Amino acid sequence: MIDPAIRALDFDAYLGRIAEFTDSELISGESEMVSKGAVPQHILSRMAELGLFGISIPRRYGGLEWSMSQQVRLTFEFTRASCVYRSRFSTVIGLCSQAVLDHGTEEQRQRLLPAMAAGELVTAFALTEEHAGSDAAHLRTTAIRRGDHYEIDGSKRYITNAAWADIFLVFARTDPNEPGAEGISALLVDADAPGVRTALPEIMNGHAEAPVGEIVFRSTPTSAGNLLGGVPGRGLVQALRGINHARLHVAATCVGQATRMLEETTRYLNERHQFGGPLSDLGAVQADLGRSFAELEAGRSMTLECAQAFDAGTVPRYRIAAAKLYCSEMASQVADRCVQLLGGAGVVGPHPVPRMWRDVRALRIYEGSSPVHERNLAKAMIKQVAADGTLPDTFRVTRRDTA
Ligand SMILES: Cc1cc2nc3c(=O)[nH]c(=O)nc-3n(C[C@H](O)[C@H](O)[C@H](O)COP(=O)(O)OP(=O)(O)OC[C@H]3O[C@@H](n4cnc5c(N)ncnc54)[C@H](O)[C@@H]3O)c2cc1C
Repeated sequence: MIDPAIRALDFDAYLGRIAEFTDSELISGESEMVSKGAVPQHILSRMAELGLFGISIPRRYGGLEWSMSQQVRLTFEFTRASCVYRSRFSTVIGLCSQAVLDHGTEEQRQRLLPAMAAGELVTAFALTEEHAGSDAAHLRTTAIRRGDHYEIDGSKRYITNAAWADIFLVFARTDPNEPGAEGISALLVDADAPGVRTALPEIMNGHAEAPVGEIVFRSTPTSAGNLLGGVPGRGLVQALRGINHARLHVAATCVGQATRMLEETTRYLNERHQFGGPLSDLGAVQADLGRSFAELEAGRSMTLECAQAFDAGTVPRYRIAAAKLYCSEMASQVADRCVQLLGGAGVVGPHPVPRMWRDVRALRIYEGSSPVHERNLAKAMIKQVAADGTLPDTFRVTRRDTA
């Protein structure tokens, strides 16, 4: 439950509280998390008390209702710590709550959002399948209407929080005669419903302390009232709402991760002496640091700019995709340079940077992999330039604006 004193804080005070929590509990708790192989329960309880599960949920549904710009600034702070912590509440604040908020019925919002905001109901977003990853529109899981309920058959994989979720937001084909996106609907399914089985992978390369999972549905019933928004065939449109939100959070996460890695690495380089002085005195080392800082700040600006547009009432989906693409590539580049600059300490021993290097790699794959974003951005550019000569989500002052 969110501490009532937290609810009373204004944004700057809240941001300060989260920055302090990041330093004193998340970062300092990383070794405990790594040795236990899981995010400890006492940290999850603190996250709930501090309202981290509710940052994007309106106050009328029990959340803290911070704007997108504020959520992004909070993410810059709490993702200075391992991004594994964030994954424990990311599916609640982004993918699931935003789809329920924008596309759910009022009954679904009232039923789910207050418990989600309080950190008492964990949701997972179940889209990816063995045969439908980047090509999600061709997913095979079915949800067939049988009287007052749907019956779900199929399986999902790589699902964040599959093992901890109380409810899954499942994307399934409700119209088997429609092979594309129009046949897909979103349904809420209890994790303990009959015929549901979850399994964790044996090996995770990165994100080891919050593994993704597989979910299998065998004739699993869910009531017709659990069809998101009560409308079939709109699943992928509904998913996009949460996905755009989540992509911007991923971009902000990359900024937080790169900030921490550069702070840690620069400190190390100031202290490590070779050739009669600190490594940070060497020109080649400084070139890597300076370039990394510039790229970090470019990513921060892109992310904040998209968040401001979001708050002003538009979802600049192409610029959000560009920010997610750029920031995830940036974090990986920065991580790789930092590991290099640490030398042997980047490979051997407990330094946090090599762990983060492994963790940030996944950010170039989920919420749309980098090549898929490149392809989609290029396709949108080609189409729009052919139509009116401008780029998608353009900053240009167009004839439309001046008319
Ligand atoms: C840590 C983690 C957490 C995740 N969490 C979730 C979750 O909560 N819910 C969920 O539903 N899914 C989740 N996923 C799944 C994720 O969304 C998919 O892994 C992603 O969509 C890619 O699908 P795939 O792995 O099947 O790769 P594939 O689709 O097989 O693609 C493999 C690679 O091929 C290339 N490629 C594919 N298509 C194209 C194209 N059109 N043009 C150019 N190159 C292309 C890309 O390099 C891509 O990385 C998660 C994945 C990871 C790793």
